[in-house]
Amino acid sequence: MGFKLPRPFRAGGFFVAVGIKSAKSRLPAGVSRWESAPPNMASPLKLLIIDCDSTLSAIEGIDELGRLRGAAVFARVEAMTHEAMDGRIAVEAVFGERLRIIQPRRADVAEIGRRYIETVEPTAIAALAAARAAGWTPMILSGGFRPAIRPLADFLGIERVEAVDLFFDAAGNYAGFDEAYPTTRSGGKPERIRELRAELRPERVVMVGDGVSDLETAPEVDLFVGFGRYLTRAKVKAGAAAFVGSLAEVPALLP
Ligand SMILES: [Mg+2]
Repeated sequence: MGFKLPRPFRAGGFFVAVGIKSAKSRLPAGVSRWESAPPNMASPLKLLIIDCDSTLSAIEGIDELGRLRGAAVFARVEAMTHEAMDGRIAVEAVFGERLRIIQPRRADVAEIGRRYIETVEPTAIAALAAARAAGWTPMILSGGFRPAIRPLADFLGIERVEAVDLFFDAAGNYAGFDEAYPTTRSGGKPERIRELRAELRPERVVMVGDGVSDLETAPEVDLFVGFGRYLTRAKVKAGAAAFVGSLAEVPALLP
């Protein structure tokens, strides 16, 4: 874009990016679209929020980071992830611990970014195209790591990634994570969705995901779709209003 959006609107600006070109010509020079019409008034936003790990991609990024450290670390990390996604232990009980064990470097995270793309859900591209054609804007909401997920989001044409930031030192070594970010704990996804509703004022919100952390969003969204291509979690299947085995099934369910 050839102009700067005012700071409060920039985060959500992409949602009506298709309208910018035509609108810009009707506005005086130097006046952006958002100064005359907030995004939600210009075009009601319909948000399709999708989990990343075991939903948009077959893998669990944190487990793959563990795998880079050998079989023993992988087994330990995978067991913790599974218990958390099954809802048997709280996310916060394993979040920092898994990272402390793995100490992921910047290069490791880039490798996971490549693996996310290699293992993308096979119907994701077509499903996202169908959802966009019906007026939905896809977004990723994840308890995974923003720098690992960004390449997959770019591959899928998804602009906004809500996930946990990782920090590295100048040599690319692990230097911690954003401990304040909601998805580092149980109840974090519904909390983030409440914040997104306040920020973006979407007309409708749908959430798709495989984990109990996704199911927790059900009271905050218009429809929660459980996802079971890679793993069927009994608690999610039982609690979800809809449950699918392929992202291809999602567009027909959108309210
Ligand atoms: Mg998941």
